[in-house]
Amino acid sequence: MVRTDWTLDEINEIYHQPLLDLVYQAATVHRNWHPASEVQVCTLLSVKTGGCPEDCSYCGQAARYHTDIKVKALMSKEEVVSIAQRAKDAGSSRFCMAAAWREVRDNKDFDRILEMVEGVNDLGLEVCCTLGMLTEDQARRLQEAGLYAYNHNLDSSENYYEEIISTRTFNDRLNTIGNVRKAGISVCSGGIIGLGETHEDRIGMLRTLATMPKHPESVPVNALARVKGTPLADLPKIDTWEMVRMIATARILMPASIVRLSAGRAEMNEEEQAWCFMAGANSIFTSESETLLVTPNPGLKQDKEMFDHLGLKPMVRGKQKAVS
Ligand code: SF4
Repeated sequence: MVRTDWTLDEINEIYHQPLLDLVYQAATVHRNWHPASEVQVCTLLSVKTGGCPEDCSYCGQAARYHTDIKVKALMSKEEVVSIAQRAKDAGSSRFCMAAAWREVRDNKDFDRILEMVEGVNDLGLEVCCTLGMLTEDQARRLQEAGLYAYNHNLDSSENYYEEIISTRTFNDRLNTIGNVRKAGISVCSGGIIGLGETHEDRIGMLRTLATMPKHPESVPVNALARVKGTPLADLPKIDTWEMVRMIATARILMPASIVRLSAGRAEMNEEEQAWCFMAGANSIFTSESETLLVTPNPGLKQDKEMFDHLGLKPMVRGKQKAVS
């Protein structure tokens, strides 16, 4: 049964149990709800890079930080659709387009995004976008163009959020997620660990996700990618066991959701990633450019080898039902 009434005490108990017990419980839940050998392969493409007015302290695309990231204008629809075709040919079933914007504006750029959504949807891929804050009307227009999912991460707990971002509020995040839901678009929302938050913050963030009236159909769990020039660049690398604990808890709380092992894979070896799959992760990002937006990510060949070693196979496109 999918539950949306998890208490902090219950989540605490799950999260803090001995790691092997936690992984065993999560692996059992995973096998009850999903084919455990199938992993959704998503391609993430930055269609507009850098120059963002926001101040997310982990992000190399924020204009105010002095990073090596080059600003790139919005790509053409043709370029995006041809990259999406190659991603499909390489085994991706979901294609996510990201633009470094604070919010969507009703202008020519948004019209071009709508055309991209139509073009990628026509290829038979699940189309996802992450474009910043969205109004109800913009969400509706994206849905009409064929958008399947929208990514909008919580990033951290409500308590820790303002330590990380000051240019918009936690409630702004929830409002956008609400607008996406109202338009009938599938929700992709998770967070990042390694931002200097406490275990309580991680548990708090998981509680917000797991007590939404409907769980996000897709829950990305990211490890901070430390980008030189950002305020968080010097934080220590997150330990893999912390990722495993987070993924396993997410899997138990939101059994029907796809849990994505997202940023951080570039710093993990195959064995470490295998632990994450055992703990219930069943989605990854891959990219032909070996980058995840602006940070390193394993390449297609490396991922294929890992899948062969672990007996994993790409999930075929199957639109998930709403999870609760
Ligand atoms: S995370 Fe998104 S909103 Fe925040 S600075 Fe980066 S591109 Fe802008």
